[in-house]
Amino acid sequence: MPEGDTVYRAARELDEALTGRVLTLSDFRVPAYATVDLAGRTVLGTIPRGKHLLTRFSAAGDSPPLTLHTHLKMEGIWQVQRPGDKWRRPTHLLRVRLAVGERDAADRIDALGFELGVVDLAPTAEEDTFVGHLGPDLLGPDWDVDEALRRMRGTDQDRAIAEVLLDQRVLAGVGNVFKSEICFVSGVHPHTPVGQLDDAKLRKMLVLSQRMLEANKLRGERTTTGIARRGQRLWVYGRRDQPCRRCGAKIRRAEDGEPGKERSTYWCPGCQAT
Ligand SMILES: [Zn+2]
Repeated sequence: MPEGDTVYRAARELDEALTGRVLTLSDFRVPAYATVDLAGRTVLGTIPRGKHLLTRFSAAGDSPPLTLHTHLKMEGIWQVQRPGDKWRRPTHLLRVRLAVGERDAADRIDALGFELGVVDLAPTAEEDTFVGHLGPDLLGPDWDVDEALRRMRGTDQDRAIAEVLLDQRVLAGVGNVFKSEICFVSGVHPHTPVGQLDDAKLRKMLVLSQRMLEANKLRGERTTTGIARRGQRLWVYGRRDQPCRRCGAKIRRAEDGEPGKERSTYWCPGCQAT
């Protein structure tokens, strides 16, 4: 599932492949931008902002510099395709294609955005409309524990900590996998109201969150246990009814019908009692 670490890697890959080069083709397979043609513009860079991607292009004629905003949501990927590489998804799932270099040239690169959950294009001067609402970015140059803590306190204190960690307006980058893993490593039950956790505890959880995403931002396979071996990478996420790696208790997953408790939430009833 794409979270801050996945998006960071995608941004880096796009950035390294496209930045400084002139687009020879653009193809938007979303109705709102079906007629847009970015060919001739130079790619200025791609940056991650939480779980969002911003790709910037130079001005062209009377048109100002533009920013492409994409979000991977559940299924989306960006593939950087070089000559000879197979497409990783079928054609009908393509939403955006950006190419640099001439067709069949050795330096041709196609950036293929499949199943993107969000595709927006706007003048770069207005890109805050896409990401201005986000809290401090766990993997960004603006990461700020104090500001994230302030935003945690600014939200409804009856909200479950798991829900607050996911709230991108509080801090940007955590998705369902990290949410469960952060709560486990912190020894906090995911349904604990945030108001019941003191500042020192929340600060520790924020520091841990940043460390977990940082440790995974350049890895191919996400691990929170520090073990890279398949089947041993995560503490609780996706491990319903399996024994806890620390205490042996059966890992639980929130059930349908429990108010405010999403099925994507996992915890150990032994290690996260309260
Ligand atoms: Zn346990």
